Amino acid sequence: MNNLLPTTTAGSLPKPSWLAQPEKLWSPWKLSGDELTEGTHDALRLSLDDQRQAGIDIVSDGEQTRQHFVTTFIEHLSGVDFEKRETVRIRDRYDASVPTVVGAVSREKPVFVDDARFLRGQTDQPIKWALPGPMTMVDTLYDAHYKSREKLAWEFATILNQEARELQAAGVDIIQFDEPAFNVFFDEVNDWGVAVLEKAIEGLTCETAVHVCYGYGIKANTDWKETLGAEWREYEGIFPKLQASDIDIVSLECHNSHVPIDLIELLRGKKVMVGAIDVATATIETPEEVARTLQRALEFVDADKLYPSTNCGMAPLPRSVARAKLAALGAGAGLLRGELSS
Ligand SMILES: [Zn+2]
Repeated sequence: MNNLLPTTTAGSLPKPSWLAQPEKLWSPWKLSGDELTEGTHDALRLSLDDQRQAGIDIVSDGEQTRQHFVTTFIEHLSGVDFEKRETVRIRDRYDASVPTVVGAVSREKPVFVDDARFLRGQTDQPIKWALPGPMTMVDTLYDAHYKSREKLAWEFATILNQEARELQAAGVDIIQFDEPAFNVFFDEVNDWGVAVLEKAIEGLTCETAVHVCYGYGIKANTDWKETLGAEWREYEGIFPKLQASDIDIVSLECHNSHVPIDLIELLRGKKVMVGAIDVATATIETPEEVARTLQRALEFVDADKLYPSTNCGMAPLPRSVARAKLAALGAGAGLLRGELSS
């Protein structure tokens, strides 16, 4: 474990082709029942090994036990009917057929706690576990019960807090909430989004993170990015509120991005997971490129608060590409570490 510039990933990594169809979101499982449980745990160990070989310091499960970062969590809750589907516009960007909230939402039993315990048993390295953020969950559903995005978000925060406390007890060191919706609904983020997120982390003693990005490298996202102009200033509307929040770490997109890097200054004092790997291209970064991106970020983040990371999850990428990108991340952070200590 490197104490200076500890590397990590935003979350998901590709699944093996024997477990699910590669390079696809919401890819159906190829196994079922006990075979699926065993298969996802085998995949988790492989994913952990890929991270270890690349020299990643803070490791994750690579999200091998879930089909999708939002849907899989919601599937485990009551109050949501997956048979009853409505078409809604997700993140103001693309239409999708989504499940319906038909009654009070609640968590009958833990969702990822057994998987986290399994990961904990596989490694002594610090582990990070990702959960969907409340606003992003709301944005992935049709709500026929609460009829209020904010009200539903508060309910989800209570549920996420229950899950997070049990993940912490299972030995998770960092709990991360994925909130791509924060990059779209600025007024809501400032009105209630950050407050709801703070409810989700209430009482936790482990570290907490929020991941806000421009999404996976899928077409709906790359088309949307085309419309954002030369400079992407979305973070400007939400970073001040996040800086003042109880969240410990902010995970953001940086490499190959049109985000003006000086916006990171708005988070001064927070730990920052700086995305130094572009997940929207199969081109592998060189360690030098990674080091340069991190170096630029160092102007706005204190070195002891910078966590080299990926821009977003790598689930949709070919496995060999993701592995090479992990290696570039590890090597690039190593280069900069060497420069800083000499
Ligand atoms: Zn992301």
